[in-house]
Amino acid sequence: MKALDELTFDNRFARLGDAFSTHVLPEPLDEPRLVVASKAAMALLDLDPVVAETPVFAELFGGHKLWAEAEPRAMVYSGHQFGGYTPQLGDGRGLLLGEVYNQAGEHWDLHLKGAGMTPYSRMGDGRAVLRSSIREFLASEALHALGIPSSRALCVIGSSTPVWREKQERGAMVLRLAQSHIRFGHFEYFYYTKKPEQQAELAEHVLNLHYPECREQPEPYLAMFREIVERNAEMIAKWQAYGFCHGVMNTDNMSILGITFDFGPFAFLDDFDAHFICNHSDHEGRYSFSNQVPIGQWNLSALAQALTPFISVDALKEALGLYLPLYQAHYLDLMRRRLGLTTAEDDDQKLVEGLLKLMQNSGVDYTLFFRRLGDEPAALAVARLRDDFVDLAGFDAWAERYKARVARDGDDSQEQRRERMHAVNPLYILRNYLAQNAIAAAEAGDYSEVRRLHEVLSKPFEEQAGMEQYAQRPPDWGKHLEISCSS
Ligand code: AMP
Ligand code: MG
Repeated sequence: MKALDELTFDNRFARLGDAFSTHVLPEPLDEPRLVVASKAAMALLDLDPVVAETPVFAELFGGHKLWAEAEPRAMVYSGHQFGGYTPQLGDGRGLLLGEVYNQAGEHWDLHLKGAGMTPYSRMGDGRAVLRSSIREFLASEALHALGIPSSRALCVIGSSTPVWREKQERGAMVLRLAQSHIRFGHFEYFYYTKKPEQQAELAEHVLNLHYPECREQPEPYLAMFREIVERNAEMIAKWQAYGFCHGVMNTDNMSILGITFDFGPFAFLDDFDAHFICNHSDHEGRYSFSNQVPIGQWNLSALAQALTPFISVDALKEALGLYLPLYQAHYLDLMRRRLGLTTAEDDDQKLVEGLLKLMQNSGVDYTLFFRRLGDEPAALAVARLRDDFVDLAGFDAWAERYKARVARDGDDSQEQRRERMHAVNPLYILRNYLAQNAIAAAEAGDYSEVRRLHEVLSKPFEEQAGMEQYAQRPPDWGKHLEISCSS
């Protein structure tokens, strides 16, 4: 276990030089204080969890202090936003403080979001508010606990610094951890600004540090792109299987590592709704829940375009062709497991689609349905769940097919079935209204609810005593909350 001054830095991205990032110092927040810290994320840095409560922790992650070895940099990138190309973006309010390596030899980027203005701030103030910092923190750690690849969050630091959004709010910082903060948009920036040397340097950097196994392949860059396609297919399959809606799948928000990244107006589905749009500025529904699947491919195509200097167009197309079949295989595999099935049959896709259609028409709670399905033997479970459906005849027909399918699957005990299903069907997810309750308390100076919710969500598959209130459908006020996009 390490103390805060014992972190070891190795700032590989900073060493790429000024063409890739600019040195900027964090702008401190007034009266920094710890809102919440993740012990699990601290462990990634070998940090002793007790240091979170020390004043120096809030000073370091509130922008007041810096390690001598840190080299804070704002990265430059660009990207396709809502389908249109924006030639220059970058860290407008976040700084890569440095890269820390742990005892296991892993490097972790320390990225401080809300750290003040940078050359890429455009019209923004460089700040993040408490509300959005708490949302990013909770989502990062909750997705990770569900087994969905994601950036991580070490802590949220609150302050008394006023920040103006639709109203006056308070500034905060979230310390994000990821093995890299390189986005699709980094490659697009050097491609469209016609800087082939730097683009090659970037590609070498990513290949050497993050895809070293691809070096062994006859075409290392192609192997790397294929791996990126595969990771995205798997990540998005998990989003769809668990009802996660990202909300802003611009290419500048897509990680080169295939992890969920840059949390904005995201949401988990309460009632199942394939057409759900969580981002209220997304008027066309470009990033609606079901569109995430084709948008994943669109984003990979944008990356492929930026990689044409290194890989032939035919090879890129072939690799892109892997996306949909891989997505479907991962998705179906997870959905089978969510239904408690251990074998595969040709009609399973139809079984899943039939269920989702019924859930859509009746507004059934997506998370609780699967959890309850595993509580009891299939026949009993569907009999109890029947009441949630409007189209009873439709549900009965589905239930018959399901029971027959379960019978063909094998005859394990109910205990085994429950254990197997509960291990993939969470009881607790980050519902918007739960986040909203925790935010309201934190804005009033009480951080206990954020901390409790974080704890509950860190073990989403485990029933926790006294935490029933976190496993409920939203109350009326909490349905379809409008989440502000100004963060
Ligand atoms: P996002 O929609 O949060 O992914 O941000 C898109 C771009 O706007 C990124 O380049 C951000 O760094 C920048 N940005 C967002 N909010 C602010 C802000 N308050 N101040 C400065 N830049 C910002
Ligand atoms: Mg972003």
